[in-house]
Amino acid sequence: MSILISGTVALDSIHTPTEVHNELLGGSASYAALAAALDAPVQVCSIVGRDFPAEHRALLTGHGIDIANIEFAEGRTFRWTGRYHENMNHRETLDVSIDVLEKFAPKLTAEAAAAKVLLLANMSPDNQIAVLNQVTGKPFVIADSMDLWINIARAGLLEVMQRVDLFVINEDEAKMFTEASNLVTAGWRLREMGPRHVVVKKGEHGALLFGPDNAFFATPAYPLTEVADPTGAGDSFAGGLAGSLAAAGNASPDFSDLARGVVRGSVLASFTCEAFGVKRIAAVTPQEAASRMAEFRRCTSW
Ligand code: AMP
Repeated sequence: MSILISGTVALDSIHTPTEVHNELLGGSASYAALAAALDAPVQVCSIVGRDFPAEHRALLTGHGIDIANIEFAEGRTFRWTGRYHENMNHRETLDVSIDVLEKFAPKLTAEAAAAKVLLLANMSPDNQIAVLNQVTGKPFVIADSMDLWINIARAGLLEVMQRVDLFVINEDEAKMFTEASNLVTAGWRLREMGPRHVVVKKGEHGALLFGPDNAFFATPAYPLTEVADPTGAGDSFAGGLAGSLAAAGNASPDFSDLARGVVRGSVLASFTCEAFGVKRIAAVTPQEAASRMAEFRRCTSW
């Protein structure tokens, strides 16, 4: 089954305590697409400026990612700069240049509109709704978001939540959004806001999946001894989950399809953390991904 991923395609500058890298390929859709492409055909809907480097474009198409729905507009590509502190768990945004994103009005081709799995990767709820309004058929819809939209576009985000099958959010954002100090309470409260399923990402501590009758806890995340750059881990998680659902080929995924997707997302996110930007997730082979899945199973079953 094919996947449509909408989100940002960006140029990222990343500072860690030991290294700085500038103008790397980044953005929520880039990470998600590279992860999902390991499992299924992917189309991306986004916008970049005329300055978007040919090598980044070639990296996406070289992974078989269909970029027919990426608009190459006048102006500069969205840029984001972030800095991680000592333990790599906390980051601050140093700079954001919205540029072409400001005029983004997603327009889907007929093929993209008919995708069976739709991942609304992190971007403004207005843009997520614009994509949702164009889909034909009944895709399984996953949406990711971030604290910025909870703070400045809450009404739009609540509308998105009413229209998706699975909502993904990180731990701190889930607590902030629901005003719950307990994560399980936060998960159930998020479900009451509309989505049938909710995933709360807990970084190195894994992820929690909440459904109508069940919960599944994929904990911890795949354990890494060294994290070079966690940027895009959440996006890779969402992409890996979408790819797993598309590969399973079930138009109405059941709880076990979703649980497997959560593990697949965790495993692919672990690769992203091993090098700067998309370098590692873009180099993962199907064999490496399969062996990490098997190791995850071995380390967590009892
Ligand atoms: P993550 O580490 O999974 O939270 O995602 C990091 C990616 O999100 C980076 O590649 C950024 O380019 C992208 N990003 C940062 N801010 C935004 C935003 N406001 N909307 C969409 N994508 C963003």
